[in-house]
Amino acid sequence: MLLAHKIELRPTPAQAIYLDKACGSRRHCYNQLLAHFSSKENKWSKSSAYQYYIKTLRPQFGWYTEVSARVTRNAIDDLDNAFKHFFRRVKAKQKAGFPRFKRKDVKDSFALREKAKFDVKGRLLRIEKLKTKIKMRQTLRFEGQTKQITISKRAGKYFASILVETQQYNPKDINRQSRVGVDFGIKELATLSNGVVFGSNQKLKASLNKLKKIQKNVSRKKKGSNRRARAKLKVAKLHFHISNQRQAVLHQLSDYVTRHFDRIVIEDLNVKGMVKNHKLARSISDAGFGSLRQQIEYKGRLRNCEIVIANRFFPSSKTCSACGSIKKDLSLSDRTYHCDCGLEIDRDLNAAINLKHYGEDTLQPTEKRTKEIC
Ligand SMILES: [Zn+2]
Repeated sequence: MLLAHKIELRPTPAQAIYLDKACGSRRHCYNQLLAHFSSKENKWSKSSAYQYYIKTLRPQFGWYTEVSARVTRNAIDDLDNAFKHFFRRVKAKQKAGFPRFKRKDVKDSFALREKAKFDVKGRLLRIEKLKTKIKMRQTLRFEGQTKQITISKRAGKYFASILVETQQYNPKDINRQSRVGVDFGIKELATLSNGVVFGSNQKLKASLNKLKKIQKNVSRKKKGSNRRARAKLKVAKLHFHISNQRQAVLHQLSDYVTRHFDRIVIEDLNVKGMVKNHKLARSISDAGFGSLRQQIEYKGRLRNCEIVIANRFFPSSKTCSACGSIKKDLSLSDRTYHCDCGLEIDRDLNAAINLKHYGEDTLQPTEKRTKEIC
């Protein structure tokens, strides 16, 4: 199985210069190739691109050799991919979108796809033609053969995404419980049927407020000025920070459920339907539910969990988790669920418990059962 781990790098100023040079060489080579093969007389093919690269580009731009030759060489593969997608879309009669030139400071990156060209040992990363080793913020999460590395720059920081071929993934062995229901909410991010609550993130809210302020700041500065550039970088950094804050909570939650339970029952979030309710829609996109579900499914596969998606018409909130009767007039503002059977329970916890039992015969809300117990 191939797994990727993205790690922040801690380059020294000299190493950062190398990384910038590599990003620049790759971008330059990519753009040169694209310019050459954009004209009608030069039809794109990988072999003619390689000829052009060897006979024209490399001799003409001697400074390509200051970084690993693979940095520029791999730009051919990248552009080949871009062209493949372009031709596929043309064939499918979709909006085609010809490959575009890469711009400086926009998704800067370069890749080394040959295992001899880089090496990871502990928290140190070796890259071809860089004499010193770059420190990484953490060690690789997976053991196995490293296959390729993509180094990217975002908001002034450097990241390495390392692809590892690994035989098996052994999470820490914990005595896992059989099932859990997860209710995603507005007030809290998620409530679990065992009572654990993952709160909505206050720090994130604070950051979002701050973002509004500094975005205004940018528009006040003169276009093209240094001050505007600095203000823009500030905004980019905060955006990045916010997306990290979001991801951190989602990772915590998805880690927790996939480590502790064999079967995880979640709701089928019909986000489109929820857009009708504006406030709800906003908090849902803030919480990143789409990405949360992806993470739970992905980690669930690694840890051998069964992920059950409850039918979206399953009345998880309206059903009493004790007797199974359904309350028709439950509104969003009712935070506590009261049932005639005597149950008084937090609304989200009630929903989570119902999800936990989703699919079990005992919670089929049939007329008969409801009558018997209530
Ligand atoms: Zn009841």
